Amino acid sequence: MTGRIVAVTGTGTGVGKTVLTAALCAALRRGGVDCRAVKAVATGVPPGTDAEDAVLLGRVMATPPSEAVLATFALPRSPLAAAAAEGQELDVETLARSIEAMAAGCDLLLVEGVGGLLVPLTPRQTVRDLFRRLDAGVVVAALAGLGTINHTALTVEAALGAGLRVIGVVLVEAMGEEDAAFVAENAAQIADQCGVPVLGVLPHIGDSSDVDALAEAAGALDLSALTEPLADATEAVVAADRRHVWHPFTQTSDWREEAPLVIRSGDGCWLRDESGRRYLDGISSLWCTVHGHAHPALDRAAREQLGRIAHSTFLGQTHAPGALLAEELAAVAPAGLTRVFYCEAGAAAVEAALRIALLAQRHAGHPERSHFVALGDAYHGDTAGAVSVGRSEPFHTGLDPILFPARVVPSPHLDEAASVRALSDLLDREGDQVAALIVEPRVQAAAGMLTHSDSWLVQAAALARRHGALLIADEVATGFGRTGDLFASAGAGVTPDILCLGKGLTGGYLPLSAVLTTEELFDRFTAPHTEHRTLYYGHTYTGNPVACAVARASLRLFEEEDTLGSARRLATTLASLLTERVAPRPGVFEIRSRGVMTGIELRAGATPLDPALRTGRRVTLAARRRGVVVRPLGDTVVLNPPLTMTDAEAEILVSAVTGAIAEVIGGPG
Ligand SMILES: *Cc1c(COP(=O)(O)O)cnc(C)c1O
Repeated sequence: MTGRIVAVTGTGTGVGKTVLTAALCAALRRGGVDCRAVKAVATGVPPGTDAEDAVLLGRVMATPPSEAVLATFALPRSPLAAAAAEGQELDVETLARSIEAMAAGCDLLLVEGVGGLLVPLTPRQTVRDLFRRLDAGVVVAALAGLGTINHTALTVEAALGAGLRVIGVVLVEAMGEEDAAFVAENAAQIADQCGVPVLGVLPHIGDSSDVDALAEAAGALDLSALTEPLADATEAVVAADRRHVWHPFTQTSDWREEAPLVIRSGDGCWLRDESGRRYLDGISSLWCTVHGHAHPALDRAAREQLGRIAHSTFLGQTHAPGALLAEELAAVAPAGLTRVFYCEAGAAAVEAALRIALLAQRHAGHPERSHFVALGDAYHGDTAGAVSVGRSEPFHTGLDPILFPARVVPSPHLDEAASVRALSDLLDREGDQVAALIVEPRVQAAAGMLTHSDSWLVQAAALARRHGALLIADEVATGFGRTGDLFASAGAGVTPDILCLGKGLTGGYLPLSAVLTTEELFDRFTAPHTEHRTLYYGHTYTGNPVACAVARASLRLFEEEDTLGSARRLATTLASLLTERVAPRPGVFEIRSRGVMTGIELRAGATPLDPALRTGRRVTLAARRRGVVVRPLGDTVVLNPPLTMTDAEAEILVSAVTGAIAEVIGGPG
């Protein structure tokens, strides 16, 4: 065992947390464990003096008090307020790094929190966030007196609700006059009600500066849970997975050979696997995560809604999260898109959009407008309708019997003028039979981040309009800030008739997608029941309230945290790092990007690589060994990080990818 971190928190202030930490440390050291203890932050410490808690912990370890505390502030308030009074702001990441460095030098590091779990460290983060970041198991100190069941249950719920491991509860006899039978009764009730072990009762210690007395007192506790090897579920998960799971877009013969990444948790731009290793999430968990993983505001929104109701149908009923989200989406969407239809997957939103376009034309007296125009290299999802407008060989070979034929014009990526000409010619020929043109504005993402100019989009939209075709903008990938604007179409100055949203709609939390349309299109479906203009389309979980509640919270964050500002800064940082480090490397043919959406295409000179070499895949596996998660699209390595990624993290991302390319393709390291 080395580097284990165990956090000690209290059900409140003054419950004997420091004495418990000192006693645990003393007992473990006596038992031969190289245990150290540190207090993360101490407040109410006059300048030039030592924090009392640090003196106690230092005494147990026989070190100066300064080595037992990371930050001290004079004001006896929360760390947030005490730091602010001195014109400072704590940084959870810096605290976590210091703690990890200390832990690396001993078997077990006890980290004493400040007060309880939800004490604020920064305007946004609490002690609980620090413990989450550390992946620390938690020991809860609770007073062995009246009221302890309630306080302990609240603390345990707050810990488990944030995915923390609770090692156990210790009841601390702070007075020395507790009734043993009453304490035992409380202990039994806590174990039963909270579903966590009670490690024992810490008897009152008359002189807490007596290290032997501390060790003696904690000797009666069950300490094995602190030192016993952590359960690593990797093997069991992989075994079950290999036996029973069918993964999307994954060749089983490859999967069998790989050591799969088994993700357990995430915080900010980082993922953590079942064995505790951290990876930087360079692709936002497939282009979804917007504000980072486990954002406190999004977590809270999900929990609050779960507390009310997890699901209630949207067929013939409504609810606040669904109705209010629709109102809020309409307020930020490209002008005129005022109606919101919910689905779960992006593909389902595209299916609904196609159907809405077809029927809207029909209801306006144009049943002959039954064709769809799509772009070459388009991707719109994997259901039959979506594949019909986003075919690519060889992936869709053999599907003809379930697909409809779409009209395809060349992707604008290589030659925008030719693409416009082809679209114009097609519409001249059969524009009066076209229901809609469907495009991915600015970036054809799944094709390998193929980009086009805003002016191409403006011309294509104008052509469609001139010929009476509707414009469907599929912003499942480009929506919510990925290209630097909230929506790519609006950023390009184009207002679609129908807008498809997905991926980032809930900040990357839950499956929710949406189709937005104009009031004018919506009205075409409004008629007496007997005319059968009802949109007979929907999914069981349409408008799921938890997903909608999180989507609302995500939209609020765009305002409160200036997420678009972060996205633009990150895009600039990434572009300059990539130009400087990656572009000149051998094997790098082209770097395409718009906003944070980035594709690094690998080739041998100008010649595409032999697909059998699986170069893109090998680069991403090499990046993973360097602690970074990215994914290839063929031999294009895709970066598409959360919009809140810091410059320092972007640097880690690009360094790992550079190293991975060097490892697989060669060239200077
Ligand atoms: C991902 C994607 C889809 C499909 O979304 P799912 O949620 O995977 O069904 C549709 N269109 C575009 C542009 C996408 O990138």
